[in-house]
Amino acid sequence: MALSGLDIYKLLPKTNCKECGFATCLAFAMQLAKKAVTIDKCPYLSKEAKKILEESSLPAIRLVAIGSQENKLEVGNETVLFRHEEKFHHPCGLGFIIDDSLDNTEIKNRLTQISKLEFERVGQKLNPNLIAIRQKGIAKRFLEVINLVLKNSVLNLVLISDDVSGLQQALEICKDKKPLIYHTGAENFTQVSQIARDAQCPLVVYSASLDKLSDLTAKLNKEGVTDLILDTGKKSISEKVWDLTQIRRAALKKSDRTLGYPVLTIVENKDPYQEVIEAATYITKYAGIVLIEGTRDWQALALLTLRQNIYTDPQKPLQIEPKVYPVGQTTDKSPLLVTTNFSLSYYTVLGEVEASKIPSYILSVDTEGMSVLTAWAAEKFTPEKISDSLSKSGAKDMVSHKRIIIPGYVAVISGDLEDRSGWQVIVGPKEAAGIPSFLKNL
Ligand code: SF4
Repeated sequence: MALSGLDIYKLLPKTNCKECGFATCLAFAMQLAKKAVTIDKCPYLSKEAKKILEESSLPAIRLVAIGSQENKLEVGNETVLFRHEEKFHHPCGLGFIIDDSLDNTEIKNRLTQISKLEFERVGQKLNPNLIAIRQKGIAKRFLEVINLVLKNSVLNLVLISDDVSGLQQALEICKDKKPLIYHTGAENFTQVSQIARDAQCPLVVYSASLDKLSDLTAKLNKEGVTDLILDTGKKSISEKVWDLTQIRRAALKKSDRTLGYPVLTIVENKDPYQEVIEAATYITKYAGIVLIEGTRDWQALALLTLRQNIYTDPQKPLQIEPKVYPVGQTTDKSPLLVTTNFSLSYYTVLGEVEASKIPSYILSVDTEGMSVLTAWAAEKFTPEKISDSLSKSGAKDMVSHKRIIIPGYVAVISGDLEDRSGWQVIVGPKEAAGIPSFLKNL
């Protein structure tokens, strides 16, 4: 558990020697509590104090990486139970299970479909992260499918197998990709954990019981296997949410390091709607990785959109740069619409302007990421602010007509805005959906 500045101060030599670069030990302690400095700056720490400080600075939930390339997935290192307290830091990985019992044509079709699952929403790219290859038959077939996936996908890998020899051979092919190793068999688990440690790959620790999971991770840690992901196996949604919540609480509230790891969930439901509902539940609370079978684009879009929402900072709305954005082949006659710099507002307006096929400019006003009505109520989307944005953005050099279109919800400011800016103000539709017909009839 993180120590306060005063707790840290009690562990320091209190000589105020200044060698750390701070005037007093207390000042150093306060900076250490904020993680603005590292403990090695003080050369006079006792062994015991150093150990306590090192342990307290470890994350309550270990950050575990899967993959070695630029697109590696990092999960864990979460610090809160509720996102309004701070934010969730490392978005849950979404992956698809491919059984090696499927024929090659079916596997290639699924890989092609998975490669198309990329979406753009409020200026961010949304992608799945993993392909989990599950061994159902002999090792030879498992290896064939791994090669097929390696040829046809750049996503990170999860290798699910109860066959130790199959896993060993698989790692010879793909250990550079640092796949996540998942072996559910209990008898050979020690052997598999050593294989994972030697290949420096993360490992799933599986048990239906939290107590057993805790014992297993403690044992593995002693053996030097530290990059772990937990799974409590197949259970009902309510049991699974209970497990996920208890694991998170134990790590964050009880400082139980044996459960301080990200958790993986596998969703297997033949009903695609139920599959999405179940996966969405685990993304919300508190899965680090969710593996599903369905690869329909609407399933991925729903889950990736939810993940994006859960892992944004609720205290800092997604914002875009406040400026004028040309949409299409604009000229100096093109209409100029005004909105806020809240990403969702801007991208909603952008989508409708694009749908209208009428080249236009969109001026996004700096409202600190608030939407139109919220910004207006908070006096961030006022005639003064909009006039100021019109001048600073250079809008007058882009168009020759001096007319702007404001959202219908703030029609009330049109008169004042005209007086202040000197621009003619046209009141647009209240809802963005009305923009295409509005622009066509302008
Ligand atoms: S180097 Fe250590 S003992 Fe000296 S002032 Fe800094 S914290 Fe205190």
